[in-house]
Amino acid sequence: MPDPINLLDTTFDPEDEYRPEPEPEPAPPAWTDGSVRIGIHTSIAKSYLDALESARKLGCNALQIFSASPRMWSAGPSRIAESVAAEFRARRVELGLGPLVIHANYLINLASTQPMLRTRSIQAFQDELVRGISLGADFLVVHPGSRGESTAEAAVATVAESIRQAVKRVPLGGLRILIENTAGMGTAVGWRLEEVAGILGLLKGVPAGACLDTAHLYAAGYDIRSEAGLTQTIAMIERTIGLERVPVIHVNDSKVALGGRVDRHEHLGKGKIGAEAFARILRHPRLGPSGPEGLPGRAFLLETPIDEPGDDRRNVKQLWELAGKAEQAPEAEKGYSMLTAALQKKVTAQRKAEKKKKTAAETQKSAKKKKG
Ligand SMILES: [Zn+2]
Ligand SMILES: [Zn+2]
Repeated sequence: MPDPINLLDTTFDPEDEYRPEPEPEPAPPAWTDGSVRIGIHTSIAKSYLDALESARKLGCNALQIFSASPRMWSAGPSRIAESVAAEFRARRVELGLGPLVIHANYLINLASTQPMLRTRSIQAFQDELVRGISLGADFLVVHPGSRGESTAEAAVATVAESIRQAVKRVPLGGLRILIENTAGMGTAVGWRLEEVAGILGLLKGVPAGACLDTAHLYAAGYDIRSEAGLTQTIAMIERTIGLERVPVIHVNDSKVALGGRVDRHEHLGKGKIGAEAFARILRHPRLGPSGPEGLPGRAFLLETPIDEPGDDRRNVKQLWELAGKAEQAPEAEKGYSMLTAALQKKVTAQRKAEKKKKTAAETQKSAKKKKG
């Protein structure tokens, strides 16, 4: 009788002949090479492609966009035509821009206790995922929402459950969901880092992380302005979310004082946080994009106001300088701004007209009161 073990070893198995090659590991994206990634939120008002060109002209190597109008529920088709998306993806590779971050619509409230609003929010968030995948985005940033009358603990569970429902049947590919910390206005969820961590803790199996906004941290009471406060805040992030789960940082100065709980962004260095603190934040080894303490590919993105033409370009330039990497900044196009003089004129005229209308309505109201 042959040795049974030996028999097993030598028996021919036809499947051996056709063993498929193992799937190649996807190559890590170029932007995770440890270089500093800096960008700004650019406009898709003209087109998706134009947002990429704006990032290039402003001297960025990363960017954030909306994938649809951020303050309206989408009325028309929520998907992007594949020809448009393919052109966008190809151009982005050409320009070497990464990561690409999409900021979700502001109306989405994944924490809502009103069934209608919650269903609508889940649907809109799913649409965001689908558009993000089609544009080849790396991250989709979303605010947790407002809890209304419910407790913070219940809201954390609701947000996680809403996200789970939205990702069902949507293969995310390389897209990751990032929960953004908030300033804590009204009943906003996610102003405490524990709440953001709580949501992530309930999202096991879903590719998710956090996006931290400096203006929101400060307004929520985390003193990132002082050296000691920054050290404390970083320790707090480590204890709750974990820095390895923070691939994107929104770099905004704050119009609002420490703990003011209001979300008002200011130009870098002109707000309550200040340039000195930003230099400390951007150069901190734990917050940087290179090893051994940083996270490769971590991006610093601006969401600063554009009050005057050129504010966008100046803030990007300053961000590179504050990070101590001005020599690595891609060259910006001289004089370029997303806010042109003509556009500024139009916006000013619009605001004036709105103000006039409001005053007229108020005058009419008080006249009626006098009469009655
Ligand atoms: Zn945000
Ligand atoms: Zn932000």
